Amino acid sequence: MRAAVYEGEGRLVIKDVPDPVPGPDEVLIEVEACGICGSDVQMISVPPGHPSTPPVIVGHEFVGWVRGAGAAVRDVVIGQRVVCDPDPKCGSCNPCRAGRPANCTSIVALGVYRDGAIARYVTAPASAVFPIAESVPAEIAALVEPLACVTNGANRAALRPGESVVVFGGGAIGCLFISVFRASGAAKIIAIEPSAQRAPVAKAMGADYVLTPDEWTARRGELLPGGADVVVDAVGSVLPQCIDAAAMGARVILFGMNGNARPPVHQVEIVEKGLTIVGSYITNFTFPAAIRMVESGALTLAPMITAIIGIDDTEAGIARIRSGEAVKIVIKP
Ligand SMILES: [Zn+2]
Ligand SMILES: [Zn+2]
Repeated sequence: MRAAVYEGEGRLVIKDVPDPVPGPDEVLIEVEACGICGSDVQMISVPPGHPSTPPVIVGHEFVGWVRGAGAAVRDVVIGQRVVCDPDPKCGSCNPCRAGRPANCTSIVALGVYRDGAIARYVTAPASAVFPIAESVPAEIAALVEPLACVTNGANRAALRPGESVVVFGGGAIGCLFISVFRASGAAKIIAIEPSAQRAPVAKAMGADYVLTPDEWTARRGELLPGGADVVVDAVGSVLPQCIDAAAMGARVILFGMNGNARPPVHQVEIVEKGLTIVGSYITNFTFPAAIRMVESGALTLAPMITAIIGIDDTEAGIARIRSGEAVKIVIKP
């Protein structure tokens, strides 16, 4: 089969590899669509901004059809359309048993530490797949994984209807936060995004204002004099700006990841404002909610799909994400 293989040190190679064979507890999935994630971009950067074990087939945001199953699989139907949690939880380590699956110590991530889904076929633990309705367009179904991660962050933000939101970063994650908060009854949503190509997308996803960082500095007193009730860092390095944008008693959700960022923090402001600052990592039993949102049409997600491309164009797609020009690019192998 054709696959996009990360071979190490910035080398992504599109080549033919043997079809995968599912283990006893695994299913074989024919990939229908797979999104390119910011972490894929990080992984193949030089030096890598995200760890992995090359050679490995990349891609973890996918939807597909179950075409085979190992001997021990009981609960998955051949022919079922599914999405997949690419960070399968073991269910038996201490964090899993304490109800904190995102902290599972035994995650072997698809597309990172084992083969992923920018390929015709992928295998995954049967316990990691979830049925999804055939009525959902494939490129939207491929958004379920990042949406499940954002739903975890949104749950932790505990937005109340009528509250205000500032989202730093108008990439795919920022856009999903905007969409979820809009649907949750936010009164005013302001996105901070320097890219002129991404700004209209953030607007179409539901932001009332999309401002560059300079525009935000100039207009914040007029637009949001008391600060925002919920602030999201979908960049990975803007905690000081988040603290500055926060209202008294606000919740700050740190979602973006940048291993090199060590911003200086004005700690006393956290104390004086009584802020709640939480890190939100991957999912927390949020796949079913994300699936229900796309199946019901509760969110308008189509504006964030920049392009649908073939597998041979994967590298060009990654370059478009890296440049900040694209929001989400989806591969149909
Ligand atoms: Zn992702
Ligand atoms: Zn675990």
